[in-house]
Amino acid sequence: MASRRNTSKKKAAKKKAAKKKAAKKKAAKKKAAAKKPATKKNPVSKRASKKPAFNAKLDSANDPSWIAPVWDDDVLLGAHVSIAGGTHHAPPRARAIGATAMQIFTKMANRWAERDCEPDERTAFRSALGDTRVQHTIAHDSYLINLASPDEALRRRSIESFVAELQRCEALGLTYLVSHPGNYIDDRASGIRRNADAITEALARAPGETILCMEITSGSGTAIGSTFEDLAELIELVPESHRSRVGVCIDTCHAYSAGYDLVGAYDDVWQKFDDIVGMSRLKVMHLNDSKTPFNSKRDRHELIGEGSLGERAFRNVMNDARLAGVPKVIETPKGTDPTATDARMLERLRSYIDRR
Ligand SMILES: [Zn+2]
Ligand SMILES: [Zn+2]
Repeated sequence: MASRRNTSKKKAAKKKAAKKKAAKKKAAKKKAAAKKPATKKNPVSKRASKKPAFNAKLDSANDPSWIAPVWDDDVLLGAHVSIAGGTHHAPPRARAIGATAMQIFTKMANRWAERDCEPDERTAFRSALGDTRVQHTIAHDSYLINLASPDEALRRRSIESFVAELQRCEALGLTYLVSHPGNYIDDRASGIRRNADAITEALARAPGETILCMEITSGSGTAIGSTFEDLAELIELVPESHRSRVGVCIDTCHAYSAGYDLVGAYDDVWQKFDDIVGMSRLKVMHLNDSKTPFNSKRDRHELIGEGSLGERAFRNVMNDARLAGVPKVIETPKGTDPTATDARMLERLRSYIDRR
């Protein structure tokens, strides 16, 4: 297996070298196109400058000369990819970065507007997915949903939206739905109870196979889920009849910001996780480095190996046999060329694997 991989890699490297010059020129052009200087008349807002809007023209996935990496191994690794143009556009983007796991939004994540997935959409999506090596599909729920809110109107709206999230996952045949636990606002225990009750109602109303993964949060404000205890309690409060559909997503950036030292006490963290939540509940991982220091309670993703977590933590993760079966996706900054950036990040993560 290793030798096959080497020869195919060598070939790719040759092609790559030949292409490099042209690609460099192109990249410079792209950069110039993307970097319009901010003027007084045309100020670039803080948010826009941080997170450029997806522009298909600048994405290598649409460049006919782009060579998609093909990995001849069983590592479950991928990224959150855009559904711009429709959900069936996500799989080709995953293929372009050599992904074996893929996360998407199934609607505009910062809007309340819901939508259904019609059979045509499922067909197009599944067919596109069939042309990839993606083995695990993940959806991330909308950022507006707060299932823990004490505001009954907001919580009701959140539940309706969450049911629709689950239904779209079922319609598209997605394996996992990752959900941020809500903000408790008044008191934590009541918030966790409201969150668990809302989950239970949604799972009952949207039967199916999709497994709900409650994601660890960085612990800012009144967010639930920044401790393993919170996550365990959430699951515990879901009746046993639905509990097999509930798991956990560990985001390395969130965990580190929440005070779990994946750099200095890597094994202790996982021991604690196993004791409190149980390794078998871990279904998905988000691999993100962090722009902010340990225990900062902030949620600012950084490129792999370039933040406060650094290379060591990701080497540990990539070589951890307990995590080998868990699909891992990156949600790192994508710059103006998501495909090129994500492909580089995935290659970097793979380079951390000891292949002896
Ligand atoms: Zn995440
Ligand atoms: Zn995050």
